[in-house]
Amino acid sequence: MLLSELQTGTKGVVVRVSGHGAFRKRIIEMGFIKGVTVEAILNAPLNDPIKYRILNFEVSLRRSDAEKVEIVTMEEAEKEIVDHDDFKSLEAPSHTALQHIAEHRSKTINVALVGNPNCGKTSIFNIAAHAHERVGNYSGVTVDEKVGTFEHGGYTFHLVDLPGTYSLSAYSPEELYVRKHIIEKSPDIILNVVDGSNLERNLYLTSQLIDMDITMVMALNMYDELQRSGDRLDIEQLSTLLGMPIVPTTGRNGNGIDQLFDKIIEVFEGRDKKTRHIHVNHGKELERPIKQLRTELYEHGFSDTLSTRFLSIKLLENDKQLEQYVREHDPDGSVLKMRDHIATEYKKSSGRRLVDKDISKGHQVTVEPERQDIESAITDAKYAFVRGALAECYEKNEKSTLHAHTDKIDAVVTHRWLGYPVFLIFMFITFFCTFAIGQYPMDWIEALFNWMGDLVNSNMSEGPLRSLLADGIIAGVGSVIVFLPNILILYLFISFMEDSGYMARAAFIMDKLMHKMGLHGKSFIPMIMGFGCNVPAIMATRTIEDRKSRLLTMLVIPMMSCSARIPVYVILVSAFFSHYAALVLTGLYLLGMIMAVVMAKIFSRFVVKGDSLPFVMELPPYRMPTAKAVLRHTWEKGKEYLKKMGTIILAASIIVWALSYFPTHEDRKTQAENSFMAKIGKTIEPVMEPCGFDWKQSVSLLSGIFAKEVVASTMTVVYATNSEEAEQLEDFEDEANESRISQLINNNMTPLSAASMLLFILLYMPCLSTIIAIKNESGKWKWAFFTMAYTIGLAWIASTLLFQIGSLII
Ligand code: GDP
Ligand code: MG
Repeated sequence: MLLSELQTGTKGVVVRVSGHGAFRKRIIEMGFIKGVTVEAILNAPLNDPIKYRILNFEVSLRRSDAEKVEIVTMEEAEKEIVDHDDFKSLEAPSHTALQHIAEHRSKTINVALVGNPNCGKTSIFNIAAHAHERVGNYSGVTVDEKVGTFEHGGYTFHLVDLPGTYSLSAYSPEELYVRKHIIEKSPDIILNVVDGSNLERNLYLTSQLIDMDITMVMALNMYDELQRSGDRLDIEQLSTLLGMPIVPTTGRNGNGIDQLFDKIIEVFEGRDKKTRHIHVNHGKELERPIKQLRTELYEHGFSDTLSTRFLSIKLLENDKQLEQYVREHDPDGSVLKMRDHIATEYKKSSGRRLVDKDISKGHQVTVEPERQDIESAITDAKYAFVRGALAECYEKNEKSTLHAHTDKIDAVVTHRWLGYPVFLIFMFITFFCTFAIGQYPMDWIEALFNWMGDLVNSNMSEGPLRSLLADGIIAGVGSVIVFLPNILILYLFISFMEDSGYMARAAFIMDKLMHKMGLHGKSFIPMIMGFGCNVPAIMATRTIEDRKSRLLTMLVIPMMSCSARIPVYVILVSAFFSHYAALVLTGLYLLGMIMAVVMAKIFSRFVVKGDSLPFVMELPPYRMPTAKAVLRHTWEKGKEYLKKMGTIILAASIIVWALSYFPTHEDRKTQAENSFMAKIGKTIEPVMEPCGFDWKQSVSLLSGIFAKEVVASTMTVVYATNSEEAEQLEDFEDEANESRISQLINNNMTPLSAASMLLFILLYMPCLSTIIAIKNESGKWKWAFFTMAYTIGLAWIASTLLFQIGSLII
């Protein structure tokens, strides 16, 4: 428990002290170190400070300070001894037992991975946490983090993989999230992962972390690339300059990872010689105001949770979030008043300084020179610090051919007009493989489920149970699971494109086009991800800093045809358009993209107001992804699909089956016409009629609101139990590739109606999970309802147009 919770008159043993720099040091100096016994002498709930006896003398701590000390008490010890085998030998909860447990607990190290996007954090995380990885989506926060637990060198590590950031300002949700994690969770060690082939930019983030005054270890990742490039880096020297140990690593193959965690243990136990707290020197002109504001902050009691130096720098950078924090704790506003005063003074004098400089160089100054605000001066100073450090220990090999292949590939892939056909070819190959190669395993799975259905049908006596199993569960779930191969192949391609760096190029060549739509090139990646599943795609919009572009992207992602729609497409396409399957499917996907673009254009004009800000897009060097990483990504996504199978789709299949089986009728033919399903379908049929849908199609579409796959399973159930030919069909010998259900549908639908249905499925309301994701990410139900309304309206209009015009022509 926390020291602050220790009851008056009871004792505990200190496990660890969290918190940062000077503050932590103060508490440790008071005697709160691992293994020491503390007794609370006076701890009344409303009393602040609290009195403790430690090492035979009395000290008082503020409640907020006491919250930073973790202890173990007798009560907890009693429980541990019973619960944990490790402590069985400890018999009774004695003082030695307490110390033993405290010792054991203090062998847990909390580590957070912080670094730029693409520097190899996740690679290191996966290697370190190997089989024990657990993916957590913590509710209440907007960005995902991965948590892994593993043992190394006698210690237990809790490793957190945080999202990649270039900086710790408050511009994007990731930046805020990372900062919040560091401040609120106060991990024991921050593992700063740095891309060794791109030191300058990566160390900029490091310089901000240094301001926070936290304990750090640096993983100099991509060390293989650094070596290959012929650049020379004196790691010892850099480590001394930055005041933190640096361990070279290669996240791709795991080199150096063991040493990295050995080093973390050393630092955690205070045995590392390199670790010291340094200040990034911002230059005299800036250090003075930083110090001035810092003193003010200190006097207002801001030293508890945050380094005052960090807070002072951030305030001078106009950090909105920390301004808010300061405002809450300093109601009379004197800190912010001082900040404003300093900033104005700085700007005024910066003009004069630039003049002075020019005059001293002998220039004649006639115009008022541009003034620099303090915010950009701080950024400049940080880069100057990084460059200064690198100048002392780093020598770039100008003739390096490390990323020469990147330039060659980019010459074609990002070419002004070659880029587009290349992209289209990529997309076509992706979809061709997804469907053509996917056909084989699909046939096997289908055969398996047909066999299971036949087995049930021939071995069970007629009745609701048999029907539930054969027509409901096996047919329903089977009709969806059969698409697992398609989905895995699609994900394989998407993962490859993401991991290799091509996806960033696709975004790049689309940027101009996207801007015209009020979107951003960065919108493109979430949109492509939407082909897999709309839910992660909507979460991926977090990388878009600009609010307007982000919201627009979210609103149009449902136009991107997610993999859940594949099952229905395939059923309809193979029933009617099997000769042009790849073409029809590519066409559908393209149409979705075009609609997305059109809707974005309309929304940016009429719905989402405001200007969008331009910003820079990263083009990381191409890296051949390891097969392991691509397969892992693919599998992670495939796993979600299977999970959905066992839950939502199973439940929906049973509901749909029940609705179409009951109420039972003697006559099989009237059964079809009288089921609950038919009633629902017939109720909405008049609305759907202009689109060319009968009640069976209508009800299938309705069921798709839960999950798009359900449309396929509903169709299977509805057509299997409600078709007159269904009975006779059992005797049919299945023609080569035509599955039973496709035949049934072919006999019960016109090609035009099928085409109209394909269009409707492409455009209409995304599944409920997507709607909820939109609500969560945009923060408003308004946008979730808006999405529902416009997608349904659009689908209805498009299908009606297609069907009505089509009917005239045909
Ligand atoms: P993150 O965005 O920081 O999580 O980075 P990832 O772990 O996803 O890695 C980005 C890319 O860099 C992937 O293609 C990795 O295979 C590759 N990568 C990671 N570590 C290394 C390394 O040490 N050397 C090389 N050459 N590539 C690496
Ligand atoms: Mg990552």
